[in-house]
Amino acid sequence: MSKKSSRKTKTKAKMPPPQSLKGVYDILPQDQSHWEFIKSTVKKLAEFYGFQRVDTPIIEDTSLFIRTTGEATDIVEKQMYTFKTKGNDSLTLRPENTPGVARAYIEHGMANLQHPVKLYYFGPMFRHESPQRGRYRQFHQFGFETLGFNDPALDVQVIQLFYNILQALKIKNIIIQINSIGCPSCRPAYRAILTDYYRGHSAKLCSDCKKRLKQNPLRLLDCKQEKCVQLKNQAPQILDHLCEECHNHFKNVLEFLDELELPYILNYHLVRGLDYYTKTVFEFFTDKKEKDDELAIALGGGGRYDNLMEILGGKPTPAVGLAAGVERIISQMKYSDVKVPSPALIAKVFLAQLGTLGKKKSLKLFEQFRAAGIPIMESLGRDSVKSQIKIADRLKIRYTLILGQKEAFEGNIILRDMDSGAQETIRLDKIIDVIKKRLKKK
Ligand code: AMP
Repeated sequence: MSKKSSRKTKTKAKMPPPQSLKGVYDILPQDQSHWEFIKSTVKKLAEFYGFQRVDTPIIEDTSLFIRTTGEATDIVEKQMYTFKTKGNDSLTLRPENTPGVARAYIEHGMANLQHPVKLYYFGPMFRHESPQRGRYRQFHQFGFETLGFNDPALDVQVIQLFYNILQALKIKNIIIQINSIGCPSCRPAYRAILTDYYRGHSAKLCSDCKKRLKQNPLRLLDCKQEKCVQLKNQAPQILDHLCEECHNHFKNVLEFLDELELPYILNYHLVRGLDYYTKTVFEFFTDKKEKDDELAIALGGGGRYDNLMEILGGKPTPAVGLAAGVERIISQMKYSDVKVPSPALIAKVFLAQLGTLGKKKSLKLFEQFRAAGIPIMESLGRDSVKSQIKIADRLKIRYTLILGQKEAFEGNIILRDMDSGAQETIRLDKIIDVIKKRLKKK
């Protein structure tokens, strides 16, 4: 080996083992049962309410988010993973999925379908945030979009759907915060009143809010800084400045929520971080506080976005949607000790083998059990029958099959009843029928 290459090998050996990036994580086998439970619950309920699944790419042209989510939002300003391709295109890992779904709706001519078009999704999103409890850089959302009508009943339907999903996931103490942020005909006047109010106090604002005052004054109501929170409590409220249409729409939303007895409170300061919302906006919380944490955690949020399609060059298409954070939901489920069904195949039979011939026949027999639809487990790497039986015992599997060299040679197999310890020898070509009968008897 040359001197140069031996140095290279040494440097390689000294490198620490690779680690996942900050704010992202692996979903390990022991975590999968929560994910499966949530996915199947979302699918079941979404389909019941008439939503169809859509999967859009995780990368989109950067301009899509600038045009929709909004240039002056935290997401677009600070949190997007944006990169240039070799061809000099600017692409972004999706920080949220409503823009992608809207793009797909226009691109695939869904405007020609019968409305409302109801779509749902489930997948990873990416935001460059400072990692902290409940905040990741790659996280997962599922969400619903109802496209085509401005009926307040549809706002309430997505709220009800998410509420029912949380109920099915056994999450307790849910509270929905709700507000209306008006529309392009009433919001500008309110924005002017709000700007006037804050201008009078601009010296007391945090540096981010000073910027927001110029670019996006509604976002001032969203600030969590102590001094800004005090100011917002005295700020003019948008509900006093809604036009008649927005007022009536919101009144209807609240009446429908009352009718369904959904637990909500008005939050006059709720504006949500995205630009495209009109009228109804809402967020879901649990009022259960995590150990030392004073902040209730947002499990999901959404609102109406009647002008988004036009912003993207599509036909006017009123719409309402919601996105939910899967990691937050799982953390809440774990906190409340919710038991989830294990997705693991419940094996009824354990197949133990010994010797090369036994192993050979075991591989074949395993496939025959699969074809017969009988869940079976094996431990092919192990050669001691005793240790294989121990595994079957630990897993509380009722029947163990033992295929040793002798049995394999004679075309037999040993069937051991793990409850009684009784063993009998059965013809290999009869074993599936015998097991079928035994399982039926139980
Ligand atoms: P948003 O798209 O910001 O309205 O977020 C909708 C939901 O996604 C929130 O209520 C959270 O449950 C979840 N969420 C948003 N950002 C993150 C993040 N960085 N990490 C984990 N969950 C998030």
